[in-house]
Amino acid sequence: MTAERLDRFMARANAMYYATHNPFTDFTTAPEISQVFGEILGAWTAVAWQHMGRPDPVLLVEAGPGRGTLMADMLRTVRRVMPDYAAAVRAHMIETSLPLRAAQRASLAPWTAEAVWHDSLDQVPAGPMVLVANEFLDALPIRQFVRRGGGWAERYVLDGAFVEAATTERPPETGVADGQVKEINQPAQDFVRSVAERVRRDKGVALFVDYGEAGIQGGESLQAIADGRQVNPLSPAGSADLTALVDFLDMADTAQAAGAWTQGPVDQGPLLSSLGLFERTEALAGQRPADQAERLRSAALRLTDPAGMGTLFKLMAVVFPGCPPLPGLGRA
Ligand code: SAH
Repeated sequence: MTAERLDRFMARANAMYYATHNPFTDFTTAPEISQVFGEILGAWTAVAWQHMGRPDPVLLVEAGPGRGTLMADMLRTVRRVMPDYAAAVRAHMIETSLPLRAAQRASLAPWTAEAVWHDSLDQVPAGPMVLVANEFLDALPIRQFVRRGGGWAERYVLDGAFVEAATTERPPETGVADGQVKEINQPAQDFVRSVAERVRRDKGVALFVDYGEAGIQGGESLQAIADGRQVNPLSPAGSADLTALVDFLDMADTAQAAGAWTQGPVDQGPLLSSLGLFERTEALAGQRPADQAERLRSAALRLTDPAGMGTLFKLMAVVFPGCPPLPGLGRA
């Protein structure tokens, strides 16, 4: 066996995981927890579209759509609350996994027959777009550098364990202590940079929702989930979903350097609460049998839990210069 650089291991592991794993058992992401998540984000994209000057057509792009639940919930909602926006929307999905594409196609069938799938953002046609990405950036492969003496080493994976190799590459200087890890997510930076260039050029808005922090100095956050449980991230490739915390300040810097503006990041809990999560949940619960009503209510609490998803998850928008404040994100 030869050692494999961590980002290559993570890319291979996640490609195998998303291509082979039954996506219907493991997903406990926000759109899978409550339909109200997608309803709120759908309404949010409608406001973004108004800020953009109501372009027709407009691309509604989702990166890493999983089972397609978020897009389906958004499309259903915009049909109901803003038909002129719904008529202008063209759904585009960025997804590399074939089984997940099939699951997404099935989820979208009631709402659009014209969705288009792409392997990467480069393939999405130019034009005004609203992009959403929930738990996409955190799945992209990271590198881990370790401060060693005056220099740096980089982590590789060999036989289920880390090995280090000295490197002349340098992560940005963040003052991490000797022995500490600094994680770098280059594909996330590249993705956000391309999104920023597009929204600046074609007047668009992008919303990133992820498990992350506003500025990460150092430390390691790589984690693996299999069957809803945390497992060793270096367990055999394809057996678990690997993610790492998103550094939202790094993403904001990257977007701004490409000429876009940013709004947020803000915590998920307060944002969803202020945009009516509990009111909508009660309205739905009132029309449902008791067990379903209870499930909806506990889902809303889970999404906003200050000791859980409500603060672990953050939202940040990358917007065209001059875009007015978007719902829940406050001042630009
Ligand atoms: N947004 C969904 C799923 C998150 S899981 C939800 O919230 O439920 C991550 C998703 O990103 C999966 O759909 C996975 O197949 C996709 N993905 C991961 N890496 C990708 C890449 N490099 N390009 C495109 N899609 C990717």
